[in-house]
Amino acid sequence: MALRAILFDIGDTLWDSRNAPPGAEFRRLAAERAAQALREYGVHHADPDAVARRAWDAMEAAMRQARATDLIEPDYGSVAMLALAELGLDLTRERAGHLLEATYISGIEGGKAPFPDASETLLKLRGRGFRLGVITNRAFGGERFRSDLREAGLDIGWDVEAVSVEVGYLKPHPVIFRYALEALHLRPEEALMVGNSLAEDVAGAQQLGMLAAWRRSAPDAESVTPDFVFDELHELLDIPLLAAAG
Ligand SMILES: [Mg+2]
Repeated sequence: MALRAILFDIGDTLWDSRNAPPGAEFRRLAAERAAQALREYGVHHADPDAVARRAWDAMEAAMRQARATDLIEPDYGSVAMLALAELGLDLTRERAGHLLEATYISGIEGGKAPFPDASETLLKLRGRGFRLGVITNRAFGGERFRSDLREAGLDIGWDVEAVSVEVGYLKPHPVIFRYALEALHLRPEEALMVGNSLAEDVAGAQQLGMLAAWRRSAPDAESVTPDFVFDELHELLDIPLLAAAG
């Protein structure tokens, strides 16, 4: 069966955080954004740093719990609302979710930088006839995510974008992979998944019958054997199966 599509993880596969500001700067920015959101709501809190941290910690705890259990994306607005209620803040789910997202320092501002060969490799693969997509675990989707991709030069007009918070399931849940395949009208064996996580990307894709290429990283699973292993994205261009789309 010839391959027709290549689906990419993003974090540590197409970009990484090598330019990330120090933690203290992240915190300062997050506190500033939290204070601004509270001002917009006409709500006062003496410690916006604590507000930002409490919402963020609650989000991370919910995410960890989901990853360890059912892989269903939590409702982060509700998670933030309940966490901030403990600080005496009475916010609606929408406002709490907005505040949480406001404290997310992302994209170029968050230090994300594409790997130098990322966009050229993607465009060459497209030139060979492959349809290209992303399958990504992230708590914030929508326009924020798309503008982060644009700023990083990774907005190549993807044929499908499967974002966990929009689909409702986290990799390695089969639903998020099926979502991408169905959008492309492809069978699993017609697509290759590319990612740096053995647990999420490689095992997730292989359980459906997709091939998987692993960007070598610190292994996060045992007994998972990728179909291909590479260190730099441009090495994908040398895989015989990727010489031309089927
Ligand atoms: Mg990744």
